Order: sequence, then structure tokens, then C-alpha cells
Amino acid sequence: MDFSLTREQGDIKRAAGEFAKGEFTSERAIEYELNHEFPKDLYKQACELGFIGLNYPKEIGGEGLGVMENVLVVEEFCKADSGIGMAIHLAYLPAKIVKFFGTPEQHRKFLKPMIQGDYISAVSFTEPDHGSDLTAMATTVEEKEDRFIINGTKIFTTNAGYADFFIVLCQNDQEAKRGHGMSTILVERDPSTWLGGEFEINEIPNKMGIRMTSSGELVFKNLEVPRENLLGELGRGLLNILDFLDESRIEIAAQSLGNAEGAFLKALNHAKGRKQFNQPIIDFQGIGHKLARMWSRIQSIKWLTYQSAWLCDHTPRKMAGTIPLLTAKEVIDDAITVFGGYGYFLEQEVERRYRDNRIVEMYEGTVEVQLNNMIRILKRLNPDFLNASLL
Ligand SMILES: Cc1cc2nc3c(=O)[nH]c(=O)nc-3n(C[C@H](O)[C@H](O)[C@H](O)COP(=O)(O)OP(=O)(O)OC[C@H]3O[C@@H](n4cnc5c(N)ncnc54)[C@H](O)[C@@H]3O)c2cc1C
Repeated sequence: MDFSLTREQGDIKRAAGEFAKGEFTSERAIEYELNHEFPKDLYKQACELGFIGLNYPKEIGGEGLGVMENVLVVEEFCKADSGIGMAIHLAYLPAKIVKFFGTPEQHRKFLKPMIQGDYISAVSFTEPDHGSDLTAMATTVEEKEDRFIINGTKIFTTNAGYADFFIVLCQNDQEAKRGHGMSTILVERDPSTWLGGEFEINEIPNKMGIRMTSSGELVFKNLEVPRENLLGELGRGLLNILDFLDESRIEIAAQSLGNAEGAFLKALNHAKGRKQFNQPIIDFQGIGHKLARMWSRIQSIKWLTYQSAWLCDHTPRKMAGTIPLLTAKEVIDDAITVFGGYGYFLEQEVERRYRDNRIVEMYEGTVEVQLNNMIRILKRLNPDFLNASLL
């Protein structure tokens, strides 16, 4: 068993860390945060340096590397700053669905400009009445000659305010049994690509965290898009989304890993420098033990996330688990305790990390839904196989 990164992976992690440490400064982060602004310039820079294309095909200028390399970049970006790191990651993460199911033409059209930093992607499955339960969509798509016609409303779409293309989960067969008859359709922001109808985007303001991203409601009124905007097979839409979520959850775990590591580093530094009762607070056992536990928890998140990425790249198994998501929250919460009253204010960054990180338990399927999936698998597994191969 070899737990070490390859030389190339080590170089990628180091380079991502150096770039993020140099560019994701506190001043910039607070400015984006308070202005509720996407860090477009840093996204562009990250693309130009090749960090975004790592996991995208070579044919369109990517590196053709695995999820592991992506995880290392996401970890380093979020370690440097939760808000900037998550905003950049979320800008290209949805496009994985195009990578998985898109035609070569769709790769060229959507992914190529994205990894060059010119396009931002978004995925819209959630609806006002369909959140955790995606077994039927109220948003419909109708085939008509050379086009598709979309009607309905989506909510909570990340990047809604500036995404160049949206992957929209729609019901194409309303008679189909639950979980069937859905399709993923690509909708471009540019109205010149529409063949008729309306597409309205309304910002949903005042969210708790990831305030450098936009969240929006999408309203489709008889929106007509060309037939070639079908992504993958007609009727396989939900499976496209579920396949995406299997992999994207591993990268979301990397967000929580980086967020926790960044909070831990800040807390450790503070505990060594802050004196009360004439001694550094790290020397009070209550604080020292907290830091030791934070460190141990980070190791558990790290190795679970890395193992999940490795399994994803080398085997058919896709698992991220919910532990990284829940454990990161505990680490960041402890960092706030170490900072005392200072931890409650924006300037020390740990409160922002807490708010930013909270979403990892909700998007890409809530922790509760992920636990349901796990228990479903555990119920089905042969106990001998479980005992011999998985424990
Ligand atoms: C900031 C943000 C960004 C998002 N980005 C996107 C995006 O880009 N694209 C997109 O399509 N969606 C996005 N979402 C939506 C997100 O995926 C959903 O909010 C999430 O899946 C939960 O759906 P819901 O909010 O409707 O909650 P509900 O499904 O109503 O759930 C409410 C509560 O009930 C629990 N629950 C539901 N069903 C079960 C069950 N069977 N067993 C146990 N507990 C259950 C849930 O875990 C939750 O705690 C985003 C959400 C937020 C807040």
C-alpha cells in the first residue's frame, strides 16, 4: 500500500498552493465577499495556469488527468480561502456532465472556452417542489421538429447570474414511471442561440455563505433551443445527473478538506500567539487538546477524500461519504472557539469559513440523502463480501 502522491501530483498541489497563497489575499477576499462578486479575474488566471483543465480531455486543451489531481487543486484553493476557492471550483464543476455525456462538438463548444477561462457552467436540477426528490421534474421539455421547447422553473442554481451555459434537467415524458423520462438539455445564456420563447434569470439574494457566487431562479417560458442541445441520450437525464453527483461529491469533500485545513492553520497560529493569564492559550489544555483533535480530524477527512478520489480514478467505485462534510464543520467550529470573540467577526476569516462550508452538507444532495443511499447499499450487500472486502 502506497499513500504517497506521484511526483506530478505533488507538483500540482504545490503549484496550486503557491498560486492561491499569493493571489487569494484577505483584502481581495473581503472585497469579493462584501460586493457579492464572483472572482472572475482569479478564475481566468487559474484557467490560464492550467488548474481548471486538469481533469478535462486533451483534445480540447485539457490535461486528461484524474479526479485526484482536481481534488488536490480544490483542497489548496479552499485552504487558501474558502470563498474564492469554492467559487472558482463551482464555476467549472457542473461542466463535468458535458465531459461525461457531451458529443465532441459539445466538448469543443462548451468545455474548450471554459477551461480557457471564458465560460462558466451551471447545472439546474432543483425545483421549488423537487429538491431531494428528483424522481420527477415539473420542468418539461417537448420535442418539436428541429428543436426542444422548455417550460418550468428551477431554483438555487449556482452561478445563475453569470453562467454562460446551463445543464437543465427536464421531464420529456410525463407518463413515464418515477425516475424515468427525464433529459438533460444545454441552454445558453446568449439569447441569439434561442429559437423562440423566454428565459428569465432572477437572483436569490442574501444567502448564508459562498457569497462570491450567484444563486438564482431560472424561468423558462416556451424557450426553444436547437435539437443539438440535447446532452446525452433522451430519457437518461436523471442518470446523467446521478453519475455526475457520484464524482462531484468527492470534489465537494475536497472543498470541506481545504476549508478545514485553512481554519486549522489560522487557529494554530492564533493559539501560539495569543496570551491570556501570561501564557499562550495553546498551553491551556482545553485549547491544546482542541487543536490536537482538529488535526486528527483533518487527517481523517484527508485520507477519506484522497482514497475516494483514488478509487474513482482506478476502480468503478465512487464514494465520498459524509464524514468529510460533517467533520469539517466540527473543525471550523473549534477554530472559532480558539479565536474567542475575534472568531465571530469577518476579519479573522474563520466565521466566513464556517458559513461558506455549511453548504457542503446540502448541495449535490443533502447529507441525509447521502446517508439514505449508503444504507440502501449496505442493506443490499452480501455480509460476507462486506466483511471480507470492505472492512
Ligand atoms: C447555496 C446553494 C447552492 C445550490 N446549488 C445548486 C445548483 O447549482 N443546482 C441545483 O440544481 N441545485 C442546487 N442547490 C439545491 C440543493 O441541491 C438542494 O437545496 C438540496 O438538494 C435539498 O433540496 P431542498 O432544498 O428542496 O430540501 P428538501 O428536499 O425539502 O429537504 C429538506 C430537509 O429534509 C431532508 N430530507 C429530504 N428527503 C429526505 C429523506 N428521504 N430522508 C431523510 N431526510 C430527507 C433533507 O436532507 C433536508 O434536511 C443549491 C442549494 C443551495 C442552498
